[in-house]
Amino acid sequence: MHYTIIGGGLAGVSIGYHLVKLGSQVTIYDRNDEGQATFASAGIVCPWISQRRNKKWYRLVTKSASYYPSFIKELETDSQLSTGYKNSGAICLFKENIFDKTVKRISHKAIDNPDVGKVRILSTDELNQLHPALTDQYPALIVEGGGQVRGKKLLAALKAGFLEHGGVWKNESYKEDDDSFKIYATGAWGKEQSYKPEISHQRAEIMYFRLKNQTVEQSPVVMALGPTYIVHLEDNEYVIGTTHIDTDSFDCQPTKESYDYLESELYKYFKKDEVEITQMGVGLKPYTRDYLPFIGYVDDNTFVVNGMGSTGLTASPFVGREVANLLHGKPTDLDLSDYSYIESET
Ligand SMILES: Cc1cc2nc3c(=O)[nH]c(=O)nc-3n(C[C@H](O)[C@H](O)[C@H](O)COP(=O)(O)OP(=O)(O)OC[C@H]3O[C@@H](n4cnc5c(N)ncnc54)[C@H](O)[C@@H]3O)c2cc1C
Repeated sequence: MHYTIIGGGLAGVSIGYHLVKLGSQVTIYDRNDEGQATFASAGIVCPWISQRRNKKWYRLVTKSASYYPSFIKELETDSQLSTGYKNSGAICLFKENIFDKTVKRISHKAIDNPDVGKVRILSTDELNQLHPALTDQYPALIVEGGGQVRGKKLLAALKAGFLEHGGVWKNESYKEDDDSFKIYATGAWGKEQSYKPEISHQRAEIMYFRLKNQTVEQSPVVMALGPTYIVHLEDNEYVIGTTHIDTDSFDCQPTKESYDYLESELYKYFKKDEVEITQMGVGLKPYTRDYLPFIGYVDDNTFVVNGMGSTGLTASPFVGREVANLLHGKPTDLDLSDYSYIESET
C-alpha cells in the first residue's frame, strides 16, 4: 500500500514515521509554510494539570503523554538524533487562594495514573535550587512526570527516522494527480481543502529570552499563572508564551501588542535586569469547531488528521501510531471513532 501524506508538520510526519515502520511505502509532501505550528512551538507535555472537562480530549492527551518516553527512546535510536525532549518535571505556580484545592486535585490524578509521577509542594529553597532566577512569590508544586519539547527539534528527528525507514520526502505543494491513498495533515492550511471539518486557526506568539546569570544546566518547564508557561530550550535560552488570537490572517509578523503582553508576563516571573529578550516566534495553531482533533476518513481514499490545537506537540506522536495501526488493520489503544466527526451545533 502506498500512502501520500500532505503536510510535513508533527501530525503528518508522526503518521508517516509509524507507517514506514509498519512496512508501508509513504511519500510526504510539505511546502513548509511560514507559520508552521510545529516549527514555532516549544511547549509542555503535562496534560494532567488542565481543568478542561472534555473526556475525549483528556483520554487522548493522557494516553499521548504515556506514550512519549518509549516513543522518544525508539525515535532517538532510529534517527541517531536528540529529540530535545526533557522529562524534567513541571513546576506549577498558583495563587495562594486556590493552592490547597489545586494540590488536592492534581495529587488525586496521580493516584490512578503513575505517569503523573510524584506531586510535591516545593519549599522556597527547593524552588530556588530548581530554577534560581524564577520568582518565589507564588506557592509552587512540582509534577515530576511533566516534560518539555521543542517542535522543530522533534520534527527533525522524526523526519530523519522516516527517511531512515525508506520514506520519501518532497519539499513541494501537493497537486492531486494520482489515485494513491491520501492523508491530509495540513494544519492551519486545511482551509484550502473542500472537505469537512472546517479548520480555523489561532495565532500564537512566543518570546525568546536569555537568563544572564544562569547557574543550572536544566530547569523544569514552568506552568505559571493562567495560560502562561516557560520552557527551557538549551544553555540559558528560554521561551515564554503564548498569545492565543483567533484570526483569518496568515500574516506571521510579530506584533507590538503581543510583544508588550509577553514582556509584561516575563517581568512577573523574572527580574528585569536578569533577562535579555532575544526574539519573537509566531505559529498558526489549527482548530476544529469542537477544539478536538479530527481523525478519520472523509471519503474511501482520503483520511484527515487536523485540529491538533494547543496540545498537538503532546498528542501527535501517539495519534501517528494509532492512525498507522488503524490503516494497517491492527488494534488501536484509543477508540478513534470518538474523533472522526464533529458534534452538531445545538
Ligand atoms: C507557539 C506555540 C506553542 C505551542 N505549545 C504547545 C504545548 O505547550 N504543548 C502542546 O502539546 N502543543 C503545543 N503547540 C501546538 C502544536 O505545536 C501544534 O498543535 C502542532 O505542531 C500542529 O502540527 P500540524 O502538523 O497539525 O500542523 P503544522 O505544524 O502547522 O504543519 C502543517 C504543514 O502542512 C503543510 N502544508 C499545508 N498545505 C500543504 C499542501 N497543500 N501541500 C504541501 N504541504 C502543505 C504546511 O506547509 C505545514 O508545514 C504549540 C504551538 C505553537 C505555535
